[in-house]
Amino acid sequence: MKALQEKIRTEGRALSEDVLKVDSFLNHQIDPVFMQEIGQEFARRFKDENITKIITLESSGITPAVMTGIELGVQVVFARKSKSLTLQDGLITSSVYSFTKEESKEISISSDFINENDRVLVIDDFLANGQAALGLMQMVAKANAQLVGIGIVIEKAFQNGGMKLRENDVRVESLAQISSMAKGKITFVEEEAL
Ligand code: 5GP
Repeated sequence: MKALQEKIRTEGRALSEDVLKVDSFLNHQIDPVFMQEIGQEFARRFKDENITKIITLESSGITPAVMTGIELGVQVVFARKSKSLTLQDGLITSSVYSFTKEESKEISISSDFINENDRVLVIDDFLANGQAALGLMQMVAKANAQLVGIGIVIEKAFQNGGMKLRENDVRVESLAQISSMAKGKITFVEEEAL
């Protein structure tokens, strides 16, 4: 998605060779008009899949997931990263190692909101080593629902998450694929191929 590449180039900042900061539109401040375009693009790619539910992970996955939910007209469930007094029974859980926080967390969703009749689209902001996506997929499997695919706003293709997921025949749609961030210069996979 060209507009996303442009946005990453102008507003993103490579904090190191493998961490990208996009706090101005996705991870802290949110650009709702731009994120609406992100939702439209995911919806365009998955519109024929009869999706009944979108699952994401709090907090940065929520915006792209909700924007896509508006377009597809389906409910969005976000997995929680901490225990909640109001969310205790009937939990589906999974353990996820966080790339940015460098710690493992138990994530959970309520079994009230996903069941074996669901066709699920998983959405997240970033794909790095695939831990978040795998944790969400595990929960979909525990609910006996069907995973249709994974929508990622920014895939760092130089890390191995995308490869792991695609090797397992999971449909992964990434709106931007970064091939390297060496010396602060962000290169996208498409440019590498030229
Ligand atoms: P993974 O689980 O695929 O290793 O990492 C994906 C998760 O870590 C995403 O949910 C995202 O929140 C976070 N993440 C991974 N890499 C980056 C990055 O370069 N920048 C930011 N802001 N978040 C990242």
